[in-house]
Amino acid sequence: MTELRAGAATDIGLVRASNQDQLLVAHPLFAVADGMGGHAAGEVASRIAVDSLAASFAELAAPSPDQLGAAAQAANRAVWDHAQSAAELRGMGTTLVALALVADGGQPKLGVVNVGDSRAYRLRDGELAQLTNDHSLVQELVDEGQLGAEEAAHHPQRHVLTRALGVDPDVAVDLTAVTPVPGDRFLLCSDGLVREVDDNQVAAVLRRLADPDDAARELVAQAKAHGGSDNVTVVVVDVVAGQPGGPAAPPAAAEPTAVVKGAPPAGPARRPPPRRRPRAPGGAAGPLNQVVTVRVLAFSILVVGLLAIAGAGVGLYARGSYYVGLSGRRLTIFQGRPGGMLWLRPTVAQRTDVTTAGVLAYHLGALRAGQPEGSLDAARQYVQSLQAEYSRDQAPNLSLPPSVSLPPSLSLPPSVSLPNLSVPPTTSPSSTSTSSTTSSATPPAT
Ligand code: MG
Repeated sequence: MTELRAGAATDIGLVRASNQDQLLVAHPLFAVADGMGGHAAGEVASRIAVDSLAASFAELAAPSPDQLGAAAQAANRAVWDHAQSAAELRGMGTTLVALALVADGGQPKLGVVNVGDSRAYRLRDGELAQLTNDHSLVQELVDEGQLGAEEAAHHPQRHVLTRALGVDPDVAVDLTAVTPVPGDRFLLCSDGLVREVDDNQVAAVLRRLADPDDAARELVAQAKAHGGSDNVTVVVVDVVAGQPGGPAAPPAAAEPTAVVKGAPPAGPARRPPPRRRPRAPGGAAGPLNQVVTVRVLAFSILVVGLLAIAGAGVGLYARGSYYVGLSGRRLTIFQGRPGGMLWLRPTVAQRTDVTTAGVLAYHLGALRAGQPEGSLDAARQYVQSLQAEYSRDQAPNLSLPPSVSLPPSLSLPPSVSLPNLSVPPTTSPSSTSTSSTTSSATPPAT
């Protein structure tokens, strides 16, 4: 019997105003989701995704890899449906990477599903291997050979996702299944880890700290030590040698921000649904310290209110914007601001069939930087105008063959002069130098 032991940690990081990552430790299902969207929408999206995934998975008697994939699809639909319910949530989305113990043909497997740029890794025999592919613009450029791994890490559009959960009613989910071997260690993480800590450093921590909780906390601490520019979330899952028929390992203690804690499964058919762990009430439970005056409290409420209003405004502005950019060589319409804005990352709104080969070269600079447009329709019209311009430029009938010359009527006959520009013949060099008033008053000769 395969036993799993897990540890987890998450942190807001050093820059962001809120933690929009969510983690799920609900044996034998584990997940990380990284939400995006204005105001609180990103947090809502990632929470709905993990809640929906956990609920769908808990319904399964003997989950297969495909059923894990279907649970991820259901999570996509749940986020999408919720996003349609309120204007301020529209356009929200989330990444999702999940790992679960499933059965395939009677054999235990660890199924991995992925949408977006959160990642799953496996450490086996001390070697770290990435199990997932990022659904991001820079990964496409790397795959096409246009970008090296080192350039990708610092590319200005590295935040741009090409796939996310909840932005469309349907989404393609990457699914893989690996055979668990005692001693294997799996890592699920949001991009806030891998953006700050390279794979060698991650592997060193996973090799050094045996306890999964210790390893998760250390990885989060290293991400913060390297800048903490984003929320960072880590789940470490160990495959341990279990006794046949013995109980699964109890869930390791997770950070207070763990959103779902599940009871250990007593058997595949009787797994209780995971229960949401109540969130801490934000530190407001105890009596106010006496040094906190009413004035300070009022000021704090005012500041928080203003920040919330500003955040909502930024969210509406950023998510209500579109731009035309490049995905590889293909013109692509993105929702958001070029390069992202604060915590808001652009997503792909529409891929077009137009490539850079079908656009006049002088537009390429603007396209690489991202050409902002006020709406999706305006962005489509911009692409159409580029196409039309290119077609006109290429049309053979519009260029004059070498043998065609302008008709004589279009050239000026040599006898025609421009009277106003000619110098009056009566003006002599001496008069212009001594009597400017006379020469300026002289009407031009006609
Ligand atoms: Mg992130």
